[in-house]
Amino acid sequence: MRTAILAAAALTFALPAPAAEVALDVGHTLADPGAISARGRGEYHFNRDLAPVVQAALAARGIAVRPINYDGRIASLSARPDAARGSDLFLSLHHDSLPAHEQELWVWEGQRLSYSDRYAGFSLHVSRRNPEATVSGRCASAIGAAMRLAGFVPTRHHYPKHPWADEENAVHWHDNLVVLHRTTMPAVLFEAGVIKHRDEELQLSDPERMARMADAIATGVAACLYAMPR
Ligand SMILES: [Zn+2]
Repeated sequence: MRTAILAAAALTFALPAPAAEVALDVGHTLADPGAISARGRGEYHFNRDLAPVVQAALAARGIAVRPINYDGRIASLSARPDAARGSDLFLSLHHDSLPAHEQELWVWEGQRLSYSDRYAGFSLHVSRRNPEATVSGRCASAIGAAMRLAGFVPTRHHYPKHPWADEENAVHWHDNLVVLHRTTMPAVLFEAGVIKHRDEELQLSDPERMARMADAIATGVAACLYAMPR
């Protein structure tokens, strides 16, 4: 018995607690799936597919994940930051749409759907109302820089409605998003790409590309969290 306790103690010592924890939020819900893709698929499902890939990439860097809304049934927007309390970073995964005036109609598999091939690419959003706005911006910039280094191209369509926090790395001020300013920790909203864009929608579902994107996200998160005073 005593040996077992010692062995357990040694194991605990050998496996230190993860250095950081990210609250990884799947944007939108099953009931209200957010944007609808050019082929009629709800944004929630894209977000839900990307989450475990990002989680694995973070785990590979020793960063723990607290899953938020993986089941798509979270009660409210403010329940997300509440569930994240105590984590080091709140990271919300989303897929982008485009304004209605940019959209056209097409028929795909017998369905009349809206699409726009005008803009494609990723973007990042942070709020000046977040109590850790500076760190939020730094984390978003780190993720954007890692995404660019991995070959991903930003979209520019959120400007000027949402001013640049870091133009080079596709980071916008998006001050009034509840999930960004209700948190007590740094918070970043990541838009993976534009699902209204017919080609990008297909790319965003490609497993090899999703893994590369997740790796870039995790690289940025690690760079930011390990540099953060704790
Ligand atoms: Zn969204």
